[in-house]
Amino acid sequence: MPHVLGLRCKECGRDYPAEPIYVCDYCFGPLEVAYDYDSIRKSISREKIKDGPLTIWRYDDLLPVGRENAVDIGAGMTPLIRATNLGRLLGLNNLWIKNDSANPTHSFKDRVVSVATTKALEFGFDTIACASTGNLAGATAAHGNKAGMKKVVFLPENLERGKIIGAAIFGNVVLVRGNYDDVNRLCSELGDDRRWAFVNINMRPYYSEGSKSLGYELAEQLGWRAPQHVVVPVASGSLFTKVWKGLNDFATLGLIDGVPTRMHIAQAEGCSPIARAVIDGQTHPRPVIPNTIAKSLAIGTPADGIYSVAIAKESRGSATAVPENEIAAGMRLLAETEGIFAETAGGVVISALKRLAEQGVIGPDEETVALITGSGLKTLEAVQDEIDPPVIDATVESFDEVVMGAVRRS
Ligand SMILES: *Cc1c(COP(=O)(O)O)cnc(C)c1O
Ligand SMILES: [Zn+2]
Repeated sequence: MPHVLGLRCKECGRDYPAEPIYVCDYCFGPLEVAYDYDSIRKSISREKIKDGPLTIWRYDDLLPVGRENAVDIGAGMTPLIRATNLGRLLGLNNLWIKNDSANPTHSFKDRVVSVATTKALEFGFDTIACASTGNLAGATAAHGNKAGMKKVVFLPENLERGKIIGAAIFGNVVLVRGNYDDVNRLCSELGDDRRWAFVNINMRPYYSEGSKSLGYELAEQLGWRAPQHVVVPVASGSLFTKVWKGLNDFATLGLIDGVPTRMHIAQAEGCSPIARAVIDGQTHPRPVIPNTIAKSLAIGTPADGIYSVAIAKESRGSATAVPENEIAAGMRLLAETEGIFAETAGGVVISALKRLAEQGVIGPDEETVALITGSGLKTLEAVQDEIDPPVIDATVESFDEVVMGAVRRS
């Protein structure tokens, strides 16, 4: 890609070539893709983006690899929906839902994996792999198949059925006894002496760039404008930092006027190291052992924790640790008002949004986007005990007795 300068350490600023590496040799800081914005400015425009494909690849001027050989199963350009019903209930007149459960494997992870897999092919890897909290597994396995690559996908054993089957249908899934942090450590060890492309380990600098597309899309779909608030579900913190980066890229390039956006972190109380650090005024999240039903967010040692804390502060945002017993309620609230069935991470976001509205952190007329990053069909366990539709005989009498009777009684 002509616009990529290489990799740069986020801590000490040292430059590296664009290779499958992810930590700085000098300070062990994480590496990030560095771009030549002056050259991008000359080639990018709103018109050119609008003429691009209806996927994340319309933004390939700002991605680490071009669209020519993209491993593309259709990630991106998901609906941004005006949430009038939920907004009315929460007293928010300008509320939007970005529905990333509409991605091909039903989570935002298709964005990051599409970029990482394309880059892995370019590097000449023949095997794609990942350490997943759930959604990444399905996305990696699906893109691996599309790319015709070998793949090995690692998941914690105690995940929801929908996550396991939704990934294993694509093949080559391995369940590991332990939590995500154990899986991640195992994968780091495996990666030491195998030439595999672990999308979220040695490919992480490229992987995380895929998340910027969510920020780009928000701005484009709002009519080339950054919203005043974004509420983001946070696990490692990668998505959170890259939505902010995406919005700021657009401002740097003059595609939008500026970034007034306040960035809000949503985590579940049972795994909220980043939210806790923000709330307690600390710069470094303290590692935790996850114990939450929001399994897709269950990372106890978040790689992008300190950067997320810094962005919440810099953007005058906030952080919410949503009580575990409010997660299913958030899922139901979104389903009942907007007709969207989100996974547990979405329940976390909607409950956090509700609190921010009640506390007045988000004003009634301020433009707000809540990110729904995964589908509720993969986390049925979270709500199945509360959902109990009536069963009737196939007769009018049975309908009248059971259903109309219940209506009369209520
Ligand atoms: C992975 C994931 C996130 C956030 O991931 P980060 O590690 O913070 O980038 C959010 N929602 C869902 C549903 C996810 O699967
Ligand atoms: Zn460094």
